Amino acid sequence: MNHDPNCLFCKIVQGLIPSQKVYEDAEIYAFKDINPAAPVHFLIIPKKHLAMLESAEPVDAPMLGRMMELAPRLAKEQGCRPGQDGGFRLVVNNGADGGQEVYHLHLHVMGGPRPWKK
Ligand code: 5GP
Ligand code: ZN
Repeated sequence: MNHDPNCLFCKIVQGLIPSQKVYEDAEIYAFKDINPAAPVHFLIIPKKHLAMLESAEPVDAPMLGRMMELAPRLAKEQGCRPGQDGGFRLVVNNGADGGQEVYHLHLHVMGGPRPWKK
């Protein structure tokens, strides 16, 4: 697995920094955000170090697609209501202008009863 020794999320993937695991498989890891912006807020990340979307190559496309496909299943497990009446928000902050702070690609999954409307 391609890890960056200076990357916070690579350290989380390797268990060097503790995290509240939501999901794990051979190439994807998901864990709760340490500073939640919503009642449900977790991050889905590739296990391999990809700094941002520009770092992804065509070979990564199936894994990136699986991250999206996992989102509703994990959101439901974490307490989001399923379907059209429920749901969640997906955010990718990409680059400085996109507000990215941790340079290991991650999908924010935020849910609960429309917390951003309050
Ligand atoms: P970004 O702005 O890069 O899209 O978001 C980074 C996210 O990572 C933030 O929501 C922040 O709360 C979260 N985060 C930063 N450090 C840690 C950490 O050590 N553990 C966990 N679980 N989340 C973190
Ligand atoms: Zn990394």
